[in-house]
Amino acid sequence: QKEEWAKLKNEPTFSADGEQVELAANIGTPEDVTGVLDNGGEGIGLYRTEFLYMGKTELPTEDEQYDAYKAVLEQMDEKPVVVRTLDIGGDKELSYLDLPKELNPFLGFRAIRFCLENENVFRPQLRALLRASVHGNLKIMFPMIATLEEFRQAKAILMDEKENLKREGNKVSDDIEVGIMVEIPSTAVIAKQFAKEVDFFSIGTNDLIQYTMAADRMNEKVSYLYQPYHPAILNLISNVIEEAHREGKWVGMCGEMAGDPIAIPILLGLGLDEFSMSASSVLPARTQISGLSKEKLVSYKEKLLSMETAEEVEEFVKEKTE
Ligand code: PEP
Ligand code: MG
Repeated sequence: QKEEWAKLKNEPTFSADGEQVELAANIGTPEDVTGVLDNGGEGIGLYRTEFLYMGKTELPTEDEQYDAYKAVLEQMDEKPVVVRTLDIGGDKELSYLDLPKELNPFLGFRAIRFCLENENVFRPQLRALLRASVHGNLKIMFPMIATLEEFRQAKAILMDEKENLKREGNKVSDDIEVGIMVEIPSTAVIAKQFAKEVDFFSIGTNDLIQYTMAADRMNEKVSYLYQPYHPAILNLISNVIEEAHREGKWVGMCGEMAGDPIAIPILLGLGLDEFSMSASSVLPARTQISGLSKEKLVSYKEKLLSMETAEEVEEFVKEKTE
């Protein structure tokens, strides 16, 4: 089996009927890039920048961040790299930032909500990213977007820093795509409106599932409700993909679901363009996809979306793909 995977290491990803998708990997630090390349990753679908801020006593400087982003972009050599701006709060705390203690941290002051209120933290990260953009194929993604206003505000700050940098004589790429994570049901529901303004979507199912099912992803007592194949989740994902494609935009997924062998055929049938997973899942996923007919999976779409339970979905997929 390992040998079969190895043969596909430097190959693009095609289904059995010749439809191409991109298999990317998630990373937390520049040191993770070697593992991505060794495992045949075609890009980075999620660079979680929180690690630059964690385990320290103060904020990372703009230059420290620039060095990290540049290192990732250079190693990836023109392959796409999606960097997510700071997603702090929720389960991820920063001792030196003195974030408020909250009753419901996952529903509270985190990620883009924090960044838009703390431009002294947000702007240096955006400047570091913009400066690094000349070293590769950078895409910037904002986390936990719930409203269009948040996206517009974040993008306006990004554009403002781009102007500042240019005025100061720095080079900045003019081809940076700017997208959002879809982790909050409100955003999945009005994907049509977002699709006119964002360059791409990346679905964060780890959070999207917990917010849609109202089941804490860390709480074992309610883990039975954490159902990736629930028809509500599939309908949200499908809506995002359909509306994005209508506007000519691409859709990725960077939650755990993207590397799950049961979910992969479903997602291929719903039309997902990019799958981002842990590096070790890339070659198994490429092998699996090479044996799947996308056309056939697409033909199951309406049936899957109108199913009643996650169990029914799972049974159906297993039967059709064995
Ligand atoms: C997600 O929510 O699916 C995601 C990829 O973000 P994180 O796991 O970092 O919250
Ligand atoms: Mg998330």
